[in-house]
Amino acid sequence: METDSCSIDFKIDHNDPELVSKASRPEGTIVNVNGIKIGGKAIVIMAGPCAVESEEQLSETARQVKAGGASLLRGGAFKPRTSPYSFQGLGKEGLEMLSRAREATGLSVVSEVMDTRQVETVSNHADILQIGSRNMQNFPLLKEAGNTSMPILLKRGMMATIEEYLNAAEYVLSQGNPNVILCERGIRTFEPSTRYTLDLNAIPILKQRTHLPVLVDPSHGTGLRSLVPTMAKASIAAGADGLLMEVHYRPEEALCDGSQSLHPEEFNTLMYELEKVAQAVGRHIYHS
Ligand code: PEP
Ligand code: MN
Repeated sequence: METDSCSIDFKIDHNDPELVSKASRPEGTIVNVNGIKIGGKAIVIMAGPCAVESEEQLSETARQVKAGGASLLRGGAFKPRTSPYSFQGLGKEGLEMLSRAREATGLSVVSEVMDTRQVETVSNHADILQIGSRNMQNFPLLKEAGNTSMPILLKRGMMATIEEYLNAAEYVLSQGNPNVILCERGIRTFEPSTRYTLDLNAIPILKQRTHLPVLVDPSHGTGLRSLVPTMAKASIAAGADGLLMEVHYRPEEALCDGSQSLHPEEFNTLMYELEKVAQAVGRHIYHS
């Protein structure tokens, strides 16, 4: 019999923890954020600037993403920057701007927590706590998040395997908080043409192995505005339950991640295209 290397069976060997496993909740988890159901048939769009920079920047961007059809506003007040000399976020002042933008637009808010000491303050201004890629294995932070009843948007570590990622989610669930939303945001590979390599495989893999909702962040996943619409559509086609995208009213002036932020008009156009892709896979975009 002929043999070649391609005929060798590839075996998937994993040891996923229990609470996150699909078998423990085959019907799937729906995380309810002010009536917005994340993980159901409708696809949920979260959009806004990387960082809250000013009252005008946030209110104007919020107004535009709301007009484009987003149901949640994203914006970091505490920013995990690679350089200590880069803009670190407006902190408490930024959170207050998020609250005012929520009030003005009716959009729910997602914002990052980097430290256990920020959990209470951010919870007072945001509807979802984001735990970023760099903190995916910050175990004290995961436990603190698990001790709240807040929805937690847990991003995949840029160097984390799926099994490590599921264990991070298990930390939150094991503390008694079932409201975890996963988010693939790109992993580090050898390829320098993009900021990260968006792991589209992770979407169907996570959908097979866990009951938790799966979002995709094509902004950080590519680092390039011109690639965001294509990868956003690919993510929906691959089964994502929603998207987290950076949009800035003036990306050229952004203090953080301007080159991967969509202009509001690009976001509008993309939303029309996403609806068609959603319908092709038997779903639709959620509108508040
Ligand atoms: C972000 O969403 O602004 C962010 C910092 O993302 P990540 O943690 O995925 O790098
Ligand atoms: Mn960013």
